[in-house]
Amino acid sequence: MAYEDSNIFAKILRGEIPCDKVYEDEFALAFRDINPQASVHTLVIPKGAYVSFDDFAAKASDAEIGGFSRAVQIVASREGVTDSGYRLIANHGKHSFQEVPHFHVHILGGEPLPGLIARP
Ligand code: 5GP
Repeated sequence: MAYEDSNIFAKILRGEIPCDKVYEDEFALAFRDINPQASVHTLVIPKGAYVSFDDFAAKASDAEIGGFSRAVQIVASREGVTDSGYRLIANHGKHSFQEVPHFHVHILGGEPLPGLIARP
């Protein structure tokens, strides 16, 4: 799947749409999910144009992958869920029901989380 820069997270990255920003650095931007599924639900996206985790892991540089991974850890800490625990979710493609085709990691926490998956 080719990257389309009309997706909503590309617009957020370009500043065309506002977001509730938690963190930003050279590699990543983090903001709160517009439809939170837990008391903490924050999205971390890379600055580069990658459709999903699969695309990112295959094509991003080691610096991008390392920087993004560090950003996820920093965001979890800023959101106050490091000690209590959190779950990371990265949806890729049709069976995961990925909605936005710009790679993002969901950080979920702030409360005990329900089972890992629910059937559609
Ligand atoms: P996906 O299903 O692609 O893994 O998750 C996409 C997530 O993006 C959903 O949890 C959805 O609520 C969130 N989302 C969609 N549009 C926006 C938006 O405009 N702003 C923010 N902050 N989150 C969004």
